[in-house]
Amino acid sequence: MIQDFTYLKPGNVKEALAMLADHDDCKIVCGGQSLLIPMRQGLLAVEYLMDIKGLNELSYIKYDAKEGLKMGATTTHRMIEKSDVIKKHYPVLAAMEERLASTQTRNWGTIGGNLAHGDAAGDPAPVLITLNAQVKVASAKGERVVPLGTFYTDIFETVMEHEEMIVEIQIPPMPAKTGAAYTKFNLLQNDMGVVGVGASITLDANGACKDAIIALGNAAVTPIRAKNAEQVLVGKKLTDKLFAEAGEAAGQECDPVSDIHASEEFRRHLVGVLTKRMAKKAFEQASK
Ligand SMILES: Cc1cc2nc3c(=O)[nH]c(=O)nc-3n(C[C@H](O)[C@H](O)[C@H](O)COP(=O)(O)OP(=O)(O)OC[C@H]3O[C@@H](n4cnc5c(N)ncnc54)[C@H](O)[C@@H]3O)c2cc1C
Repeated sequence: MIQDFTYLKPGNVKEALAMLADHDDCKIVCGGQSLLIPMRQGLLAVEYLMDIKGLNELSYIKYDAKEGLKMGATTTHRMIEKSDVIKKHYPVLAAMEERLASTQTRNWGTIGGNLAHGDAAGDPAPVLITLNAQVKVASAKGERVVPLGTFYTDIFETVMEHEEMIVEIQIPPMPAKTGAAYTKFNLLQNDMGVVGVGASITLDANGACKDAIIALGNAAVTPIRAKNAEQVLVGKKLTDKLFAEAGEAAGQECDPVSDIHASEEFRRHLVGVLTKRMAKKAFEQASK
């Protein structure tokens, strides 16, 4: 049963940041798709719950060829999935959203809530890390921008201080000759992944791999980069043998847990297989 709390409803972002600064035991709720579960289970009780769902000034998707994509924190998964500009410039992001939860959850859950929640199994983080995304966080004292690759510190933990909140997610323009791919392994089509793997590959003028980013979900206590796997690819003309070697490296360097869904060993195997496939898929897109 949910324990009593005082409900706070800010009218704008400035008010929200002041409320966070003024109330020590205050938790943000947006879509409630993740937060209400531990609250209902009695695992989490708060004195103040601040509802930011109505902050429409944070609900937007903007694209500019020079600056890239900006999404406000209260933008829903469904808005991202359906956005024409995202389908055109970052198709991997729209495709990932199509497989995130049900339509009902995507209609209500938000990108800011998903990233702040910090579930290692969340789908957006590995995709956004491969796209070099940053999150803008704000407090009453000011704003800072944090690369998503350094945002997560431990299980369900981020670099955010208590009085800070995510206000925007920023993705730079995709470099020329770049492809990006993401998939997750799950038994139910739109469930959380047993593991998830994102890859982006950038080719140079000679067709060799100029840059590679491989990000893993549910393969450690936080989303992580598979940097050894990336190094297998960078600077080389890519072949099936190299994709397989990158997969092996990712399977070795990840640090998954065993739980009711899969053993550590099976997760390592899945990371290897999916890294090989996603790196190849990203390469094929970059080659087009
Ligand atoms: C049935 C079901 C299936 C799901 N399947 C998937 C799936 O397949 N893949 C996947 O990735 N996710 C999945 N989810 C999780 C869910 O989609 C997201 O985690 C959810 O969208 C979070 O957004 P929210 O707005 O609901 O956040 P809330 O539940 O409101 O908040 C989540 C956390 O983020 C904090 N928070 C919210 N907004 C901010 C902000 N702007 N700044 C700082 N902190 C903030 C809250 O304090 C809380 O700690 C599923 C959820 C459900 C219920």
